[in-house]
Amino acid sequence: MTQTPPEDRRGPRPNDAASLLTAIVTSSDDAIIGKDLDDIVTSWNASAERLFGFTAEEMIGQPVFKVIPPDRAEELRDIVSRVHRGERVTHFETERLTKDGRRIPVSVSISPVLDESGARIGISTITRDLTELQQMNQALRLREALLQSMVDIVPDALVVIDTRGVIQSFNPSAERAFGYAAAEVIGRNVSLLMPEPLGQAHDGYVERYLRTGERRIIGIGRIVLGRRKDGSTFPMELQIGEVDIAGAHLFVGFARDLTARQERERRMAELQAEVIHLSRLSELGHMVSAIAHEVNQPLAAIGNYIGGIRRLLTDDIPPVLRQAIERVAVQAERARDIVSSMRGLVNKEDRPRQTENLETLIRETSALALIGTNQTVGLDLRLSPDAMFGYVDKVQIQQVLLNLIRNAVEAMNGASASRLTIETVRMPDRVEFTVADTGPGLPDTVRERLFQPFVTTKPDGLGVGLSICRTIIEGHGGELTAESPPDGGTLFRFSVPAQQEAEGPKT
Ligand code: ADP
Repeated sequence: MTQTPPEDRRGPRPNDAASLLTAIVTSSDDAIIGKDLDDIVTSWNASAERLFGFTAEEMIGQPVFKVIPPDRAEELRDIVSRVHRGERVTHFETERLTKDGRRIPVSVSISPVLDESGARIGISTITRDLTELQQMNQALRLREALLQSMVDIVPDALVVIDTRGVIQSFNPSAERAFGYAAAEVIGRNVSLLMPEPLGQAHDGYVERYLRTGERRIIGIGRIVLGRRKDGSTFPMELQIGEVDIAGAHLFVGFARDLTARQERERRMAELQAEVIHLSRLSELGHMVSAIAHEVNQPLAAIGNYIGGIRRLLTDDIPPVLRQAIERVAVQAERARDIVSSMRGLVNKEDRPRQTENLETLIRETSALALIGTNQTVGLDLRLSPDAMFGYVDKVQIQQVLLNLIRNAVEAMNGASASRLTIETVRMPDRVEFTVADTGPGLPDTVRERLFQPFVTTKPDGLGVGLSICRTIIEGHGGELTAESPPDGGTLFRFSVPAQQEAEGPKT
């Protein structure tokens, strides 16, 4: 390593080519090494010292192989002979050895050194350390791979388009959602994924956004229709973001297929309608039973009176009258038979009881009862872990809950902060339920007769719901009561037989 003469530090004189060269070599970031035809190092600049860890004193006069990994020596000889044949070797990627034994990735450019007569007297190499570049490349590849794997596995369809609407990228979820293979759509206009007239208008939307910057969907999200390859359409939730990559402006669309969700919602609504229908049927059954009970009494009275009249009849009564009285007696008897067979039909509900998970029962029933209510009701479930199981007729208890919840929701209609609280507490042998609302409380007109059939304040109410609930709860050995808590609203309380999950039925 030669010292730069003081005048060179002020800058080389324009015509002093040797000084210029020395300055370049000294200040270069690349390791610049000269060697003679016998592979002995003849010059070694400051960057070479930094890169390899050997000082110029240590290397000048030494074979260059000190910094060549043994398995790369052959490769070097081969390159050198190519250079001697007149070839230029630039940016050849290989490895070198440092003083402390590390192998480092490098890029090497090699050129021959000639004397004034043009004869080859050695070789000069410029070596660039690629460690940092390789690390950066590796980190970049890692990030790329990570990103790619995320793009590949996200459940959302991901479609990237450029400012002309041309599809640049289409992930596997997009392939599944739209039915196209990526290769079929990349390079085509994104309008093919939309039904008309949206497809035709799309280019115009992009153009308007780029012109005005007015956001109608970007960053906001919308539910729109997508079009599959087979022409069918499906609802999707679409979010759009935008990115600038390497000078290109791209739009990234995330689309979530809503078909499954809508199908689930439709099925839930169907299920709810079914449960409501069943409960209406059972309400009707109870109504028939109650009517039968009510009608039976006057019919029995009619029968008794006719019996009395028949006994009091004298022989001089006109036969037509006697016949009419007989007919009344027969018809009254017939009416009683009809009524009693009706009651027999309705009461024939011998339903099975078994151990049921009350938490599941409550969650499912309340979810069902709250679907489609066009008011926001805060549902507060306080379910005690030791009141998890009951020995019940699941359908009947569902019916009780459904009735109480529907009544509560109807009572709270219009209230600003509606809250429905369902709580379970374990009693020694039973699980006590409370269903409380924040409605206006029980109307005075019904309070006393709440559990009697046909008591209602609703224009289209049957007034048999609570009477059925009471019958069901009494059938489960409990009692259904209503309370008016001091802080308002209405609270219904009832209990059912408790059960440890593994226990047999309570007798
Ligand atoms: P229906 O709901 O058909 O009227 P129910 O027997 O279920 O029959 O209810 C009887 C009446 O009791 C209702 O019409 C209503 O006036 C009153 N009621 C029931 N639950 C509540 C409640 N949570 N809050 C206020 N009033 C209620």
